[in-house]
This record gives sequence, C-alpha cells and structure tokens, in this order.
Amino acid sequence: METDSQRKAVITACRVDCPDACSIIATKNPDGRWILRGNPEHPVTQGFLCRKVAYFIKRHNSPSRLVHPMLRKGNRWVVISPDEAVDICAEKIQKLLASPERILHVQGHGVRGIYQDSVRYFFASIGSSTTDGSLCDGAGIEASITDFGTLDHNDILDLLNAEIIVNWGKDLKRSSVHLAALTRKFRKKGGRVLTISPGGCDLEGLCDHHVLISPGTDRFLAAALIKELILPTEPARDCPALNNCDGVEKFEEALKSFALQDLLRICGVDRQDFERLKAIYGGNSRVSTIIGWGLQRHRHGGETVRWINALCYLTGHVGKPGEGVYYNISSRRYFNYDGVTVPEGSVNPYRRSFPLPRLAKSLLQADPPIEFAWIHGTNIVNQAPSSYEVAKALKKIPFVVVVDAFFTDTVRFADLFFPSTLMWEDEDIVASCMHNYVQYARAFLEPPGDARSDREWIDAVSSRINPPIKLPSRKECYSKALKSPAFSETALDELRTRGFVKAKHPGIVFLEGKTARPDGRFLLVDRLSPEPDYHPDFPLRLLSLIRGEFLHSQILPEDHSERPPYVWVSESSPFTRDIRDGALARIITPVGSMRVKVKKLPEGVIHPRVVIYRRDDWWRFGGGINRIVADEITDMGVTAAYYQQCARIETEDDR
Ligand code: SF4
Repeated sequence: METDSQRKAVITACRVDCPDACSIIATKNPDGRWILRGNPEHPVTQGFLCRKVAYFIKRHNSPSRLVHPMLRKGNRWVVISPDEAVDICAEKIQKLLASPERILHVQGHGVRGIYQDSVRYFFASIGSSTTDGSLCDGAGIEASITDFGTLDHNDILDLLNAEIIVNWGKDLKRSSVHLAALTRKFRKKGGRVLTISPGGCDLEGLCDHHVLISPGTDRFLAAALIKELILPTEPARDCPALNNCDGVEKFEEALKSFALQDLLRICGVDRQDFERLKAIYGGNSRVSTIIGWGLQRHRHGGETVRWINALCYLTGHVGKPGEGVYYNISSRRYFNYDGVTVPEGSVNPYRRSFPLPRLAKSLLQADPPIEFAWIHGTNIVNQAPSSYEVAKALKKIPFVVVVDAFFTDTVRFADLFFPSTLMWEDEDIVASCMHNYVQYARAFLEPPGDARSDREWIDAVSSRINPPIKLPSRKECYSKALKSPAFSETALDELRTRGFVKAKHPGIVFLEGKTARPDGRFLLVDRLSPEPDYHPDFPLRLLSLIRGEFLHSQILPEDHSERPPYVWVSESSPFTRDIRDGALARIITPVGSMRVKVKKLPEGVIHPRVVIYRRDDWWRFGGGINRIVADEITDMGVTAAYYQQCARIETEDDR
C-alpha cells in the first residue's frame, strides 16, 4: 500500500472568483479520490481551505455535467462533434468580420487566470464589442481611486498590527475564510472588532460589538462621525490631515447640509453606539477599517465608500502600521497584459462596449444590433439584474454561443454550447484581490468527453478564420504577464516549484498621509446625497447576499434543495408582522415576484427594513433573485446597485 510520502502531492491553486486565491496541495488517495488541503507554506492560505472546495470537486464528477458540444435545433438540443461546432462558429464570425461590432464578447470570472484572460486577445484582434462596468465592486474601486489616486491597501497581514478593527459591512465567514481566520487570530491576541452592518453577516467569534444600521445609509454615519470629530466648530479645528486634502469647501458644505441628529436618525444608529464609534475613531488606538463590498451596491455606493475613506483619512487612521482602510486591490494589477489580452501596443481595440449592469437594455437598443455573442465564464442571465430582460435580449441575438460545464440559466438561451474544462483540468496563474501573492494552479484532473478550456475553443475557432488569428501561446502569456516590476526574473520557476510568489509591495501604503494622487493629497467627497424615502407599497430593502457553501451560481442542479428558497426578516419588523415564521409567501418588487418561505430572526440580528435572500440559485429551480431585481446603476463605477431594490412580502397562508 502506498504511504503518504509515496503518494504524489500536486501543488496547485484555487482559480474561482474569491479574494483568498488559495494555494493548494492535492494528493490522490489509493481509492482514486483527490484530497485537497491548503498549502501550509502559504502565508495567507495557512494550511486550510473553505467548505466550497468539496462542491468544486463534486462539480468535476457531477452527473449533470455536459461534456459534448450541442446545437439547438428548434426546441431540441442535439449533440454535435467538436469539429462541426467550431466550423459553425468560425463561419458565422467570418461573415461578420467586416462589421465586427456586431459580435459581442462577454467574459466573466467563473474561473480566473492569465491564460484564461488571453481569450480576450482574439476578440480584441477582430475589434468586436465587449462589456464594461461591474456586477461586483466597481463603485468602491472608483471611489477609492478618486480619493487616494490608486486602488491599494496595506498588506492584509498588517491587520494584526491594529488594536481595533472596524468591520464595516463585510460577511467575513462567507466572503473570505482567511480574512475571518486573521480576524479570529487578531481577537485572540487581544484586538477588538466592531462590526457595522444591517445584518446578514455570520459574526460568531468574529466580533465584540455589532452596530445595526439601516441599509444603504452608512455614509450618514461616517459623516456624523466626521462632523463630531473633525469639524465640530467654525472655523474647522486644526486637523493636520485636513490640511492635506483637496475639496474642503464643498465637503464642509455637504456636512453642514445635515444636522447631527438627522444624520443619526437616517442611519438609525443609537447614541450609545455612535459614542462608541466616536471613541474608536477619535482615540489613539491603531484602527484599521475593512469596507465590505455590499456597501457600494446601493445607489450611492461610491459616495458611501468615499465618506468612510474620508473618516479614516481625516482621523489619521491611514498610512501607518496597523492603520489603514481595506476595500480591495486589483487581482490583475501586477501583470503586464500587453500582448496577452490585447495585441501588443493596442490601447482600445474594441469597437463598442455594453454596460454589464444594464446589459439587457443596452443590447435591446444596440444599433447596429449584435448578431453573434460568445459568452463564457459567466452565468450572465442569473447574475445580472433583470434576468428576464437579459434572457429576452439574448433571444433577440441571432446566434449565441455559451461555453460552460452545466445547463445554466444562460445556456437555456444559447444556440450553441461548448463544454468547458473546470478549474483543475487546465493550468494557469492567478493573483488575489486581497493579498499580494500570486499562485500557480497546476492541472491534476483529466477533462472528460470533449471538454476543453475556453482558450482551446477560441484557438480552434481562430485557426479557421481567414486569415487565421494567432493567439499568444501559454508560454508567451506567462512570460509577458510576469514581465513586471513586481516580480523577479525567476518568478515563473518559483511559481512552478513552490506554488506561489510574493509580488513586491511596500506593506504600508499612503505613508504619512501621502496619497498616490499627483500632488500626494487626499480628495474629499463633495456631496452627501439624501436617501430616497421608502415607497409605501415596498417598505423593505432586498439584500441578495452571498452564500458560504457555493461561489456565485456555481451550484449544481442536484444541490438545489431549498424549494422554494428562503428569505429572512426580523421578528421586530412592522412590515412582516402578519407573516408567521415558516410561512409560504411571495416576495414582490416593482419588477416581479417570487415564491419564498419566510424565516424570522430575533430582534437586533437584522434591521427591520431588511429582507435577506441568499442569491445565486438558479431560475430554473425556482431561484434566481435577479429576476425581480431592477437594473439600477450606482453613482460611480457603473456597478449594479442590487441592494437598492425595494420589496414587500405577502403571505400565501390564507389563500
Ligand atoms: S473558494 Fe476561496 S477560500 Fe475557498 S479554496 Fe477557493 S480561494 Fe480558497
């Protein structure tokens, strides 16, 4: 029998859209099963992985997996050969090359990597249409770049040097188990954590005090703290940080437009909690602030992040060990993509761009219309707001190709299906949007049937175009992407042997308050937009939050067990008083309605104005919350304002 040391361990990585970007050791058991554990050498992975991994492995062997190309014929799908499928696509693309803006490329982050990203090279070369905007974090990114001149934060491990962490809205356990572990370690060594959220976060073991806030009103709390701590009198108190800010006049005007009691009334934070926060931000302890991405999925999401940035900057809790504001970093920032995702030297090769959060509307209005779409790495019908409209827009496109591994809500509206590999069937290199390590993901599973990587399918199509388009090889992609000041010459070798390398990073950013703006100054937010009143017919805010066990809509058909899906409301909510716990109900928005089961949570766990839905389950199994979410856009960064959605719940009990 093979011993542990005889079993071959493979160093690989997780390539899904998760900030942790884990380095992984995969070992094959004598019974043929692969056992995955976190790489103990990796400073962030620290030897453990999340519970999603079991489902990732299950996806590889799922009976629901589709492993052959399929063509829609009327209402039927027929299996066709890879050659036939590639020929059909090549012919359709060839016909449109004279007006390539009629070809649309939609790429998501279902699986990440440098080589995976190089699919873009093909569409950039022909000058197709593409997408822009964000379904995730764009408003906060633009807000941070506006204020600080760049998207950066202290090394994530520096959180351990803080004395207090303010977790402003992040569900640590569900969104990043390694950030959660870091927070646990921080508390164990005596650090205090205060969480601000409207509820929906699993705080057990991760928090010393929870401040419940009305959804989407965090900017008013940040403004109230600034009003009390920085600008209590006129003229403004001598504040060294304020002297290094631009935009002071408009900032002061915005602050003056609200009285303190109004700011507190709007955000619903009680005086005791406010004083607690005042003591934290106004005190001498080292404070680090983590900003959750949900905060910027409201209409004024960019503004909210800017007010929190301003609070941290003005109170001096930025640019020192243990003191920083953590939104995120770009996982692509260390890579050189010239010649990898676009032909060398080309700046904006796409003819047109469609905003992802408003994909349906913009596609339906497109002139000239889109005639061919290639969609991969995303279940866009499920993930984008207004799913019905997105489906309608796809149906209007004469030919839609989807590359995926399952019959998702998006594949339902395709004309041709290509079976894709899953993340451990193809190698790649991935970075993180949270830490400064880059990981090597080695393939250790064989692709089943005709499954190929997204890049292989596009290679096959591009070789049949006349003249053929040659995409950069894997070797070229890696060597070009790693040719960056962040890496040494030996980075690729190190990646292959050790599984990860650290990109060069100063550790602490914005030292002594010096930002990355050209003059080193911080730019203050120039407005405090009022929060719209609740519509009397829709008195709740629908927060469609992430799950802990699945990543986005990577949920297998066989794992859709909750039918109808649950919503959670507060026992103390006057807007659901007549609905009993466990009742069958409908959640209704101005966009549509869905059948759900209601769970009531004790007072104080979630805000009475909130209804929580755990998103990403599929429409075809009764889920798909984006069917009833409007395609509103945030104030900055063209991001989907999912959490601005108002709703009500009606019981079905007495029908
Ligand atoms: S989903 Fe995230 S935490 Fe889980 S294994 Fe992948 S990278 Fe690590």
